[in-house]
Amino acid sequence: MRIRPDVSTAFLLAGWLVAAASPSLLEAAPPDPSRGSGGMAGASPGRAGTPAGEKGAKGRADVVLHGGPVYTVDAVRSWAEAVAIKGDKIVYVGGSKGATAWIGPKTKVVDLGGRMLLPAFQDAHIHPISGGTSYSASCALYDFTTKEQYTKKVAEYAAAHRDSAWIRGDGWLLPAFAPTGIPDKRLLDAVVPNRPVYLESKDGHSAWVNSKALEVAGVARDTPDPPGGRIDRDPKTGEAVGGLQDSAMSLVAEKIPPYTVEERRNGLRYALKMLARYGITSFQDASVGQEELDVYRALDAAGELTARVVASLWWERKEGLEQIPGFLAQRRTYTRGNVRATTIKIMQDGVLEAQTAALLKPYVGKGEQKGLAMVEPDLLKQAVTALDKEGFQVHFHAIGDAAIRQCLDAVEAARRANGARDARHHMAHIQLFEPSDIPRFRTLGVVANFQPLWAFADEYITELTIPFLDADRQRWIYPIGSLLKSGAVVAFGSDWSVSTANPLEELEVAVTRMGPNGETKTPYLPDERIDLRDALAAFTLDAAYVNHQDDRTGSIEVGKLADLIVLDRNLFAIPPGQISDTKVLLTVFGGTPIFGDWSLAAPAASAAPAAGR
Ligand SMILES: [Zn+2]
Repeated sequence: MRIRPDVSTAFLLAGWLVAAASPSLLEAAPPDPSRGSGGMAGASPGRAGTPAGEKGAKGRADVVLHGGPVYTVDAVRSWAEAVAIKGDKIVYVGGSKGATAWIGPKTKVVDLGGRMLLPAFQDAHIHPISGGTSYSASCALYDFTTKEQYTKKVAEYAAAHRDSAWIRGDGWLLPAFAPTGIPDKRLLDAVVPNRPVYLESKDGHSAWVNSKALEVAGVARDTPDPPGGRIDRDPKTGEAVGGLQDSAMSLVAEKIPPYTVEERRNGLRYALKMLARYGITSFQDASVGQEELDVYRALDAAGELTARVVASLWWERKEGLEQIPGFLAQRRTYTRGNVRATTIKIMQDGVLEAQTAALLKPYVGKGEQKGLAMVEPDLLKQAVTALDKEGFQVHFHAIGDAAIRQCLDAVEAARRANGARDARHHMAHIQLFEPSDIPRFRTLGVVANFQPLWAFADEYITELTIPFLDADRQRWIYPIGSLLKSGAVVAFGSDWSVSTANPLEELEVAVTRMGPNGETKTPYLPDERIDLRDALAAFTLDAAYVNHQDDRTGSIEVGKLADLIVLDRNLFAIPPGQISDTKVLLTVFGGTPIFGDWSLAAPAASAAPAAGR
């Protein structure tokens, strides 16, 4: 289907689809509010609500949205023309004509003007508190690329935070210090001479520190490199030059005072604001401990938590099954309001780029190295079986084909022991597959939780992944299309602050397998592209599924919560390369706008945290 990307075409298309998909909807008799109850009885059962049982204005909607394509993401992916909201719920979905009966004297009527209405997005794997805290309580360098920009930012930050004992931050890139990638303490000494500075690289494997930080940490010429780490030194004098690699980072990092409770709360506030701007009203936090639970609880109690949150409690790898009673207590205590502490996060391997992802066959050119399984596979089976028995959902981190297989084996063991239950265990990242494991996601009911932004041929893939894999295995990287074809449920998440939290950028990559900002010009593994309908479902209804809330969120249907977004254009009426240019104009959480307002005027552009990858 070739469609020109103008609004009128978009609107015509939507109208045509409404008519084609569910003609009964348009033909349904409009409700007659004068008849009171039963005004629309018998019309389109389950699709269009009715002011049944209520009289007069009491039965009218608070808000009616009409005049634009409504993509419902219901089971048959139908389109509609109008939606009515009463309180926090959707009370009507259908044609414009039928919506008029919901309009009373106090109803706010919003003309979409051809703009698109969708269920709000849900993120199935994200780190809002740590990400938000590093943006709001530290010197974020993610948006810059040169050492001049970094030092300028550090100087500004230090001037604006005169009473911070430490200057800490993240997000610098190694290529800024080409060709060695080793940073220089003197650049920081020039702008912050008297306070310690600690800046982590974007990949988290290096730190850039100033002389004061080295002094505070007692790092001197005779300090040995710690196991698994390196202090970068002047080859002539042996003096530390300001770069710390891997475990050497903690020589300084452990001296930094931890973030305060208020800093963490502000971090979550920062993240919630950003998520609202991106149209996200539900998410699964991929790593939560006691402190994060308290932060969620505090903001929810204060009415500030503008999202439905599933918290994944962190499985401590140094411990075993004895930590389960603690999880049970946390689930009991913290599952209330908009928070559910119902998931356990198990990290099963590392990452391919650092050759720490667990593989079935060795990395090419690395001898016998196959990465590392973090939880011993037999213990993993016991743990998943025990957690499954207690009714927990397990959220795995698995990247290599061996880790994916070990997690599937563990779910299989749990099923054998406990029987099939509605567990919705899910595996995040899932980068490299042994193809015979693909059908097991469907058979075992494991949700494939991809971060689609990573599925294009950037340098992480071309330089740091492909060269270390045999040719026959290179085909099975982020096989999103194959998982969908196998019948597995596919859900999407961002892994922010590792990558952008903007679902529209991620959606574009899922559909095109190309960089969302023109980084690449050819699709990477084009057979694994998916269509826009499936990609949208992975960020709405199927992410709601993994969050165990598809019965009340994730689609626009009568009786569901009014978690909705309005986009500035119809995604189905534009070339896929424009998906990432699309803007969210309005985000509604339980019937209340949390970004933009009912006027649909484009909200003032504010600097969005970029966080590339
Ligand atoms: Zn993560």
